[in-house]
Amino acid sequence: MIFELEEYNISNFISKSPKQLISTSNKTVFLHQSKSIMSVKVENLTKIYGTQRALDNVSIDIDKGEIVGLLGPNGAGKSTLMKIITCYLPPTNGNASIDGFDIATQSMDVRKSIGYLPESNPLYYDMHVKEFLYFIAGIHGIKNKKERVAEMIELTGLQVEMKKKIGALSKGYKQRVGLAQALIHDPDVLILDEPTSGLDPNQIIEIRELIKNAGKKKTVLLSTHIMQEVEAICSRVIIIDKGKIVADDKTSNLNKLFTGPEIILVEFEKSVSKESIRKISGVKNLYSEGKNTWKIEVEPDGDVRKAIFDFAVKNDNTVLSLSKEKHSIEELFQRLTK
Ligand code: ADP
Ligand code: MG
Repeated sequence: MIFELEEYNISNFISKSPKQLISTSNKTVFLHQSKSIMSVKVENLTKIYGTQRALDNVSIDIDKGEIVGLLGPNGAGKSTLMKIITCYLPPTNGNASIDGFDIATQSMDVRKSIGYLPESNPLYYDMHVKEFLYFIAGIHGIKNKKERVAEMIELTGLQVEMKKKIGALSKGYKQRVGLAQALIHDPDVLILDEPTSGLDPNQIIEIRELIKNAGKKKTVLLSTHIMQEVEAICSRVIIIDKGKIVADDKTSNLNKLFTGPEIILVEFEKSVSKESIRKISGVKNLYSEGKNTWKIEVEPDGDVRKAIFDFAVKNDNTVLSLSKEKHSIEELFQRLTK
């Protein structure tokens, strides 16, 4: 077991959430079982709006430094989950903690530990960019406001626009301001609700880069309904649908979750009968795709490509083209959230 030793004056005690506590004469020593403190811990969270169950017994553990994509169609419950773990909304049942701080009993500590970019990115449109960031820095009680605001402006590429009113900025630049306010107090955990939604393709790339950079030293949970977003930014994906988690895996394993048959598209030079192709070992199903072209569904774990070439040679025919059709990740997403 790995322990991290920290010393705090007893006055700090109230706001801390230690696993073990040893009292000495004038100091208090906390022993954190560092492996057991998750950056984000969600336990059996349920949210019911009226009669609608928006979240249904959701549990998630996110380790320090992970970049996790919360992927789901509209109405899946992504924003509800984020609002609960950022203390904007109480759950109906269940619990959550950020950096070991409980959302119900230690909400101020939770708020200090997170940077939150809500879905609608609420900003004061009549404030100037710099003025707004000073204001946010003040709320967080940041001492070296001037330096910190300058750092954030540089980090988020707001130099050119920093003297403009927020209302006059493009959506991409408003999103940069939203990210700057989420990062200004250097939180451990970033919660970003659909951070690139509504942006044009160039802005999307820029904001993704910013998130990836910011995420190097932080734990990030971002929501999206776009598959490519997760592939571009996240190391882990959690798919949510109708308030329930339907998949939770490494992004690189997403394709493996798909259990459907492999498809091969083959074009022969001369015509062949359906029956003769069906006899090739490993062929499960086949469909005509036009002149001498067939779509072949392969038995699970099978590979019929060599057999198809052998079949062509044997029948004095030629394979003009052969390609494996990859199942797109979108297809997987549609299946999982049907
Ligand atoms: P997502 O962010 O994945 O699109 P939401 O968390 O916003 O999903 O919504 C989940 C479900 O809960 C939706 O069906 C939505 O209509 C409903 N919902 C969200 N907020 C409220 C609310 N304040 N009152 C009633 N229903 C709500
Ligand atoms: Mg939402």
